[in-house]
Amino acid sequence: MQQAASFQVIQGQLKGARQVPSPNFNQRPQQTEIQLVVIHNISLPPSQFGGGYIEQFFQNRLDWSAHPYFQTIEGMQVSAHLLILRSGEVLQCVNFNDRAWHAGRSSYLAKPECNDYSIGIELEGSDDLPFEAIQYQVLAEVVSALQQAYPKIQRHLAGHSDIAPGRKTDPGPYFDWSRFRSLLRDCNSRIEAASSSIHNETCA
Ligand SMILES: [Zn+2]
Repeated sequence: MQQAASFQVIQGQLKGARQVPSPNFNQRPQQTEIQLVVIHNISLPPSQFGGGYIEQFFQNRLDWSAHPYFQTIEGMQVSAHLLILRSGEVLQCVNFNDRAWHAGRSSYLAKPECNDYSIGIELEGSDDLPFEAIQYQVLAEVVSALQQAYPKIQRHLAGHSDIAPGRKTDPGPYFDWSRFRSLLRDCNSRIEAASSSIHNETCA
């Protein structure tokens, strides 16, 4: 199990994540501040886990003939900044400074084009199955690290279904927001406690 504070953002890269670069990204518009985290779920084929297909999909190297479902998404070029597998392993596909292609047509608090100003996190999961406990724990640790690096996202966490209602349903009914928010509060208070004890030592 991953330890708290094992993640850190350095120059748009998440230390503690396996780097799996995706070609599917472009520049964020100039002077755009990161101010939103969007949570998704994905599984390939739907509701099946493992196999490495999501990673291959985000890297444009999925064999479309490997499963009938893959033909329905053939040629799609998408990505997310992060993918959290069922095991809790974190993969980074796009640098946070770049614009990943996860949200599609979307808007948050009346501001359109969420890809411009958000970080997209995919959980390996589906709308009809519970997520793993380790995924909640790791998600909280990762979002806590992101909030340290990008303070504007402290108040702005959304699901894909919130920013693209009627079009998207993920992260779905099984995603337990209160469980996630409570774990996130725990992570953030551990960081605050650690930083105030460092402060006290330096000031003693
Ligand atoms: Zn989504």
